[in-house]
Amino acid sequence: MTIWLNGALRDADSAHVSVFDHGMTVGDGVFETLKTTHGRPFALTRHLARLADSARGLGLPEPDLDEVRRACAEVLQANPMPLGRLRITYTGGISPLGSDRGTGAPTLVVALGTASRRPDTTTAVTVPWTRNERGALAGLKSTSYGENVVALARARERGATEALFANTAGALCEGTGSNVFVVLDGELHTPPLASGCLAGITRALVVEWTGAKETELPLDVLDRAEEIFLTSTLRDVQALHAVDSRELPGAPGPVTAKAARIFEEQSTADIDP
Ligand code: PLP
Repeated sequence: MTIWLNGALRDADSAHVSVFDHGMTVGDGVFETLKTTHGRPFALTRHLARLADSARGLGLPEPDLDEVRRACAEVLQANPMPLGRLRITYTGGISPLGSDRGTGAPTLVVALGTASRRPDTTTAVTVPWTRNERGALAGLKSTSYGENVVALARARERGATEALFANTAGALCEGTGSNVFVVLDGELHTPPLASGCLAGITRALVVEWTGAKETELPLDVLDRAEEIFLTSTLRDVQALHAVDSRELPGAPGPVTAKAARIFEEQSTADIDP
């Protein structure tokens, strides 16, 4: 596997990041995951814009997006595969012990892994922890993902593939790596960005392409929604057939199936929407 590290392609086995990298020691970094098909990244421009927004939110130096774009192209060319996940990681760089911030150049890593098509339906559970919609990291795709790691492990212990968070006000927020949509009286809704959720790129495209409404929703909407689905780069649109102890036997229902079809068609027609 060939990856990009700080300005050059390298063999992954011999590419090293410093043990003093601030991204590793304190999670002072941001990242993006993109889906790739036959060497073409989906929605690259949107992912780069979000990378820059997250970096700004963390107070990291502005990433050189031309370099990131070039790195993605070179990594994709060096590792041909039909369906892949491209991971961009950008951190504060080396920070000697005792200093608050990286003192040298930031670290940029671009790597490609395999991906597979997800099943059309899956399961999720709610977790007892909350997303802080007013927290410093709200809406940023930072490498400080410990909370998501813990919540996802809890979901897996309970046999589910995703954990769903409420925010501190008790409103439905998002999953550990996905946004959430619900159908109420036949209409599609998703929590607004003010709920503290990540500005998911799949979420934004589904809102644009289906006209879904951004609505503040109480967590217990999960007990009564006619249909529920998750969105993310690697899931696309994925229906829930169970949430906590509730079964949704008809999943994917008609609204979800339509959203999935629209997403599939539009995203195939335009690789960088
Ligand atoms: N919410 C969180 C916390 C995420 O980490 C992700 C993606 O990994 C998403 C939502 C979905 O975002 P996207 O559709 O851009 O993959």
